[in-house]
Amino acid sequence: NQGVDQADPALAKILAGELKRQQDQIELIASENIVSKAVLDAQGSVLTNKYAEGYPGKRYYGGCEVVDEAELLAIERAKQLFGCEFANVQPHSGSQANQAVFMVTMKPGDTFMGMNLDHGGHLTHGKSVNQSGKWFNPVAYGVRTQDHLIDYDEAAAVAREHRPKVIIAGGSAYSRQIDFAKFRQIADEVDAILMCDVAHYAGLIVAGEYPNPFPHAHIVTTTTHKTLRGPRGGLILTNDKKLAKKIDSAVFPGLQGGPLMHVIAGKAVAFGEALKPEFKTYAKRVIENARALADSLQSVGFKIVSNGTDSHLMLVDLTPKGVSGAQAEIALERAGITTNKNSIPGDPLPAMQTSGLRVGTPAGTTRGFGVEEFRQVGRWMGEVLDAVATGEDSTAVEQKVRAEVVQLTQRFPIYS
Ligand code: PLP
Repeated sequence: NQGVDQADPALAKILAGELKRQQDQIELIASENIVSKAVLDAQGSVLTNKYAEGYPGKRYYGGCEVVDEAELLAIERAKQLFGCEFANVQPHSGSQANQAVFMVTMKPGDTFMGMNLDHGGHLTHGKSVNQSGKWFNPVAYGVRTQDHLIDYDEAAAVAREHRPKVIIAGGSAYSRQIDFAKFRQIADEVDAILMCDVAHYAGLIVAGEYPNPFPHAHIVTTTTHKTLRGPRGGLILTNDKKLAKKIDSAVFPGLQGGPLMHVIAGKAVAFGEALKPEFKTYAKRVIENARALADSLQSVGFKIVSNGTDSHLMLVDLTPKGVSGAQAEIALERAGITTNKNSIPGDPLPAMQTSGLRVGTPAGTTRGFGVEEFRQVGRWMGEVLDAVATGEDSTAVEQKVRAEVVQLTQRFPIYS
């Protein structure tokens, strides 16, 4: 019974390559993080062998008494973290959590309202190629041109005009605090369900560093792998008993079969970590670091959408440099800094090019970077993209930064 190194050298080489990539690069993708060894252990455990369709105490398979304990532990910790009455920890992903809520609250053809995708909304909030946009009728609110903050007046007007069944508050590229109470007022006025998709902010919320969607939300969905720093997966929360029952049925048997018990175990571990005082310190530092990075980027000539951030992420407007998001992402990757291109509000360029980059501080903060390190990261981004902007060969600058990046990452080792 060999481990992967002996049993499958080809795959072992790939695993080692990805470990080295993560060790040597600076991860600025806002939706990523670096989980603890304990979370990795839980996911690589024997729980992967177990079928457990159903819920604790009500399974369709025998031998579930032990995995029931894992799922109950994850549920209890999730409820404690968010201060709510019900949690379903089974969704395989954030997208499936959202699908389950749609299944509970709407029929195909029904109207819902979410944030304009070009202004920061997520694919599952109504993109035409996603099930949410194909099977339902999405209408959108956006951000104001003058300050890039959510336009609550527009949201209220769109809601009054279209009377959506569901209103989604939350997104993937909105860096400011969301006024969940205001969204609830709008929802109440048109008799809609308020679903808060806090996938990005979850870790900050449970640490008390970002507004909690409860008690305003009827339903909260989230991923568990972004700021919350758990395994890849989804989570659905509510305080409403009737909705809770329907959510359970929508996840299983509505959408999924057997839950991923090893991932649920990983969620339990991560939720346990998030309940500890150290997690509060981490979340506070994530935001401090994001503000330092935004400031550093501004000081080397970038614009930041909304002129700053209240969270772990920001959208960098590259137009002052005359470089596209696609060009920037590739050049920075060569220099050892991983980012993703992202549209900015009103972006004239298509989604595969974009005028912006989305960057975030969770992974860097987890490995120990502080304000000084993030200020340096901003300066490196300026150096690389200034070189790209000249239109000449930027290789020498990228290689110089790459060498400095490796030196920095070696001072903050991961999984060593
Ligand atoms: N909701 C929001 C706001 C997200 O940002 C994401 C992921 O980026 C999701 C849902 C979907 O999560 P997943 O990639 O796990 O399906």
